[in-house]
Amino acid sequence: MSAGVSTQQRRREMAAAAATSGAGRCRPSKIGASRRPPPARVRVAVRLRPFVDGTVGASDTPCVRGMDSCSLEIANWRNHQETLKYQFDAFYGERSTQQDIYAGSVQPILRHLLEGQNASVLAYGPTGAGKTHTMLGSPEQPGVIPRALMDLLQLTREEGAEGRPWALSVTMSYLEIYQEKVLDLLDSTSGDLVIREDCRGNILIPGLTQKPITSFADFERHFLPASRNRTVGATRLNQRSSRSHAVLLVKVDQRERLAPFRQREGKLYLIDLAGSEDNRRTGNKGLRLKESGAINASLFVLGKVVDALNQGLPRVPYRDSKLTRLLQDSLGGSAHSILIANIAPERHFYLDTVSALNFAARTKEVINRPFTNESLQPHVLGPVKLSQKELLGPPEAKRARGPEEEEIGSLEPMAASASASQKLSPLQKLSSMDPAMLERLLSLDRLLASQGSQGAPLLSTPKRERMVLMKTVEEKDLEIERLKMKQKELEAKVLAQKAEDSKEKENHCPTILRPLLHRTVTVAKPLKKAVVMPLQLIQEQAASPNAEIHILKNKGRKRKLESLDAPEPEEKAEDCWELQISPELLAHGRQKILDLLNEGSARDLRSLQRIGPKKAQLIVGWRELHGPFSQVEDLERVEGITGKQMESFLKANILGLAAGQRCGPS
Ligand code: ADP
Ligand code: MG
Repeated sequence: MSAGVSTQQRRREMAAAAATSGAGRCRPSKIGASRRPPPARVRVAVRLRPFVDGTVGASDTPCVRGMDSCSLEIANWRNHQETLKYQFDAFYGERSTQQDIYAGSVQPILRHLLEGQNASVLAYGPTGAGKTHTMLGSPEQPGVIPRALMDLLQLTREEGAEGRPWALSVTMSYLEIYQEKVLDLLDSTSGDLVIREDCRGNILIPGLTQKPITSFADFERHFLPASRNRTVGATRLNQRSSRSHAVLLVKVDQRERLAPFRQREGKLYLIDLAGSEDNRRTGNKGLRLKESGAINASLFVLGKVVDALNQGLPRVPYRDSKLTRLLQDSLGGSAHSILIANIAPERHFYLDTVSALNFAARTKEVINRPFTNESLQPHVLGPVKLSQKELLGPPEAKRARGPEEEEIGSLEPMAASASASQKLSPLQKLSSMDPAMLERLLSLDRLLASQGSQGAPLLSTPKRERMVLMKTVEEKDLEIERLKMKQKELEAKVLAQKAEDSKEKENHCPTILRPLLHRTVTVAKPLKKAVVMPLQLIQEQAASPNAEIHILKNKGRKRKLESLDAPEPEEKAEDCWELQISPELLAHGRQKILDLLNEGSARDLRSLQRIGPKKAQLIVGWRELHGPFSQVEDLERVEGITGKQMESFLKANILGLAAGQRCGPS
């Protein structure tokens, strides 16, 4: 297999694509930033293949034709005088080349991988419409897969070259979903693999083989034999019809060479879906019919997922099929996605073509939210090992690495580095070490190495890590002790103050106080001041010691008191307090909540009072349909949230305790 395009030319195209989009790989991104990432609609392109010699209907007149670079029309079978028109992000007619499709729709999203974001390309359509031709192609006309791999490897070589800030590595996995089983095509002995989701919402397949690749030859070495493992069979429609969904996963892992030693991971899915043909037309029987059932069930769920996303439904049925579970981060998730709907011109494809076009039109509405998958490197071993390997140079580094390290799958069975990091020892907490300290230790390490020190490097010694960890724990213990002492002091002060207060009261009105001892009264605690603040401001207030305090002011109200001595409850004038909140703070609180409503994820929204998972989903769905909320009160417009609920939300989140609590001095 050869991509058949000059490297120079490809490099120029990649650079141009990156330049026109204005994206650089060094876009700053905050680690752990909770801001909602901006939306990116799933892009949809339609490719019409030419008539293919020797196939049924090759002499037909086409039932579909392109109108311009984005739209096409197809005859309306209900009314022959009319045509059905569709518009997409791109339309590629029967004369379009593999390069047109690649450069127009696929190449522009590859750069996101180097920003630590995910991307996916899905070929959809009925069997025989050209999905495999588009994705894989032939040696003479290489498709999306070889072209993308060629470019990506070239790009990572350039970006990860010595002297550049990040070290880059690429790995590949290849699997198929056949009759709802996930099979590893790089390891034909593996059974059905499970699909999991980590705490950050990344989809993982534990145990899936990952092969490191540094060149296109490497890629071919693994990919070609694996492709032969694919389950193919013959149907009337296509001599070698693909009976499974084939998924090529390419991961680009980046590790920062200097502090703060961030790491990024971008995943690229290249998916050749099985055909969406109608069983009645393929003449499938027995096993073939069973296969088609499973394939169509997967595609049927795919349609349901797209509909649920479009309608903003709270439940998206990703888990109802293996295919949709795997695509969870590509559809309505974190990826830049492109769907290429392949269609055929022959009349006997008509119904499948209309159904593929309708699916493509629905997919066009799906919104993804790609974000940079960035974290600190799980431990500091990575950069040290890396710099040693780099000092050795490539051939020596390979020898130093040893054969067992070639297969990442065997080293890190959880595949993704994110998940692998979860499996590491608790020592990984060191990753949260002060970056400045890390850098100092690393320089010391390098200095020792340059002076010929034979000892183990500072940062790769478990003992050393343990010592640092123990020191941190010790410091934390001391801090806790100190805080405990302080708390005791404060408690003593409060008690003293209390005693003084009660003495003072006794002096002023001894007759009233005595019966109190026998009362069953829910009298508030002796608070003179109550600090009340909108929920979202609590942290800010804590951080700023000079923050405004909101005082519950004495207002003088009546309250029922029960006396054991008195037969009837007596009405007693007593001090009660009311809330005052500074208008600026109130406005600030409102703004913060409005920001959260507009930018928070469903999970963020649940941190608000009165917002459970269902309401959070409703809010997210409404926002995607109608755009941002202009004021907090707009919540009432969300279907499923009543005016009363909105008021209660306001009280709980903005007015804090104002609604219900009143405190008075005892
Ligand atoms: P699918 O994977 O959708 O079942 P294939 O990619 O196997 O379909 O295509 C069916 C046949 O049509 C193959 O022989 C393929 O070479 C041919 N074909 C598909 N698309 C094109 C195209 N754009 N130009 C020329 N031949 C094509
Ligand atoms: Mg195919």
